[in-house]
Amino acid sequence: MTKFIFTIVVAAAFICLALLESQDSSAAQDSLARASDPTMITIGASRIEVTFEAGSLNLSHDKILHWITTSACAVRTYYGEFPVRRLTLIIVPVPARRGVIHGVTFGENGATIRMYLGQLTSEAELHDDWKMTHEMVHLAFPSVAREHHWIEEGIATYVEPIARAETGELAVSSVWRDLVEGLPNGLPGPDDKGLDRTPTWGRTYWGGALFCLADVEIRRRTNNRHGLEDALRAIVVAGANIEVEWKLARALQVGDQATGVHVLTELYERMGTQPVATDLPALWSQLGVEARAGTVAFDDHAPLANVRRAIVAAAPAAAR
Ligand SMILES: [Zn+2]
Repeated sequence: MTKFIFTIVVAAAFICLALLESQDSSAAQDSLARASDPTMITIGASRIEVTFEAGSLNLSHDKILHWITTSACAVRTYYGEFPVRRLTLIIVPVPARRGVIHGVTFGENGATIRMYLGQLTSEAELHDDWKMTHEMVHLAFPSVAREHHWIEEGIATYVEPIARAETGELAVSSVWRDLVEGLPNGLPGPDDKGLDRTPTWGRTYWGGALFCLADVEIRRRTNNRHGLEDALRAIVVAGANIEVEWKLARALQVGDQATGVHVLTELYERMGTQPVATDLPALWSQLGVEARAGTVAFDDHAPLANVRRAIVAAAPAAAR
């Protein structure tokens, strides 16, 4: 007995309408011991086919589909469009665990995300989750040679919180607080040989995010007309996503063409094979970001305060 249920889900009401198409309404409500039929989520011109592998979850499928939709809307908002036309998303229940445990994104046989979700996960934990958005950001960049893995993780690390702030999922102050706390992990250590040759955790995730501070330089050189967002959108528009392999240099050139300045290529020439120490305290001062007891305060009179405001534009109040 198959029937189609159409539900409009307004996840980020001001920007992103999604259409849920479930093949069995009762199955979508239950925690199932068996694998489910796929549920389709439509995000703009893209479709996400969600499958639940066998196993128990305390949360209803509807709650989990809402989390997926909210994450997809954040990524769509940052990139202008969801980065792949079709995504297979597999939820893998993990017995007796709680929280969003781990995600993996593949592109070889069509864009696919496997997300491992604890059986005991609460709705609040899904609301606070960043991992689904992180994995979806991976869809928006081509596969590059293994030595450049830092750019894939760096972009996901840098873009994920900005995207969630743009749809009101995350406070702007949280984005900057996490950058202030996290980016020092990406600074080169004594034996560092550059991003391509130092595949440590810190240099891969946060070193890659330090590279993404190209955002500041692009905006400074273009009087805030362009940012990293324009470069990353252009790379997707040029046909690159997780399903294709590109040379890193090509992706950076396409990004640079979109902004009209050569920040990405120049930065890669500096940071790829040699350690570059970014002066983070000076950067925060220029941007007007001041760490204060677990949060940040903003100085709107700082020289690059307008750049800071452009990087993480607050979502309209109605969406919060
Ligand atoms: Zn990742």
